Amino acid sequence: MSQETTARVVIIGGGPAGYTAALYAARARLEPVCIEGYESGGQIARSGRVDNFPGFPGGITGAELGEKIRKQASDFGATFRSEEVISVDFTEARLRVVSADSWYDAETVIVASGARARRLGLASEDEFDGRGVCYCAICDGPFFADQRVVVVGGGDAAVEEALALSGIASSVALVHRRTEFRANATLLAAVAERSNIRVITPSVVTEILGGDLGVTGVRIRNVDTGAETTLDTDGVFVAIGHVPASGMFTDWLDTDEQGFLRASGEGTATRVPGVFVAGDVGDPRYRQAVTAAASGCAAAIDAERWLMGHRGRQIIANRSANRDLAARNAEVTVTEEGMNVRAHS
Ligand code: NAP
Repeated sequence: MSQETTARVVIIGGGPAGYTAALYAARARLEPVCIEGYESGGQIARSGRVDNFPGFPGGITGAELGEKIRKQASDFGATFRSEEVISVDFTEARLRVVSADSWYDAETVIVASGARARRLGLASEDEFDGRGVCYCAICDGPFFADQRVVVVGGGDAAVEEALALSGIASSVALVHRRTEFRANATLLAAVAERSNIRVITPSVVTEILGGDLGVTGVRIRNVDTGAETTLDTDGVFVAIGHVPASGMFTDWLDTDEQGFLRASGEGTATRVPGVFVAGDVGDPRYRQAVTAAASGCAAAIDAERWLMGHRGRQIIANRSANRDLAARNAEVTVTEEGMNVRAHS
């Protein structure tokens, strides 16, 4: 290990939740360190267009949205580290966060580690992962120009992927296990208008077929009739939701039955004092960029209040706050117990 960092606030995760937490904590002069992983922006960075984040009429790309929040946080002094957290230890009062090259001793930790693509769980999916099996149309769609692709899933993500791919691939088969889709009506209406998207329901992919050169087809079973068919395809995009990236926290923090982290105290507080949860890792219900950003804000405010309340940490903001207050002609005394302010009459 080469580097040790102490910080008042360490944020784990570089999506809208982590970046917004960094923005609020930085603006509160807590000098947060945000460990953002190797791919900044989180899941939203893979969205080609986000139409529903307030403040961006006409839409914005997910990558641009993430970059804007990150820059805003950076402008207030947040530090970002491009590395993956590999473990945490919340047994001591100083909370430890460990990456491959560094460790961090934090007074508070905001867990905003997000969620990862859910897999079909087929052996053939593993076999062809990266050789025709993909989880992100924005990232891998261009490899399938004028080829045939299958998209699996029935939510907004699957339908968005099918739409994006229909502009690149020659044909798209959207395979969903039920006849009703979860995806919103606007997206479904757009699918109806694309002549090269074929919807196959209620059906599941039971096997991905291929050889040395990659995927050549899928075996599909109709869940009502049990009938099996084979469909030729060059690629399979799996878009069946996400699982929370909560594994490394489960020794310390509570989870629900799906593995989402649960806040156990007020607001975003968990059962470990000084540890807060934000974004998709703790949200089985909404999972929107805007709700993730909002919970990042809440977690940063909770962390700030916890620091202030826990150790009389008004001293936190001592130097710069003192300067500001002095400039406003106030008398400021900083003691171990906190900061006393008496305005001149
Ligand atoms: P989701 O809404 O949970 O949908 C997952 C889909 O995959 C469901 O249709 C589900 O089928 C299917 N599925 C799950 N496990 C499966 C399995 N093992 N085999 C086959 N099918 C399986 O997930 P999402 O589409 O990733 O969306 C997540 C959240 O992000 C949602 O809140 C969504 O609104 C949001 N989102 C929004 C946008 C946008 O607004 N532009 C874009 C993307 C995502 P069932 O329906 O049968 O359960």
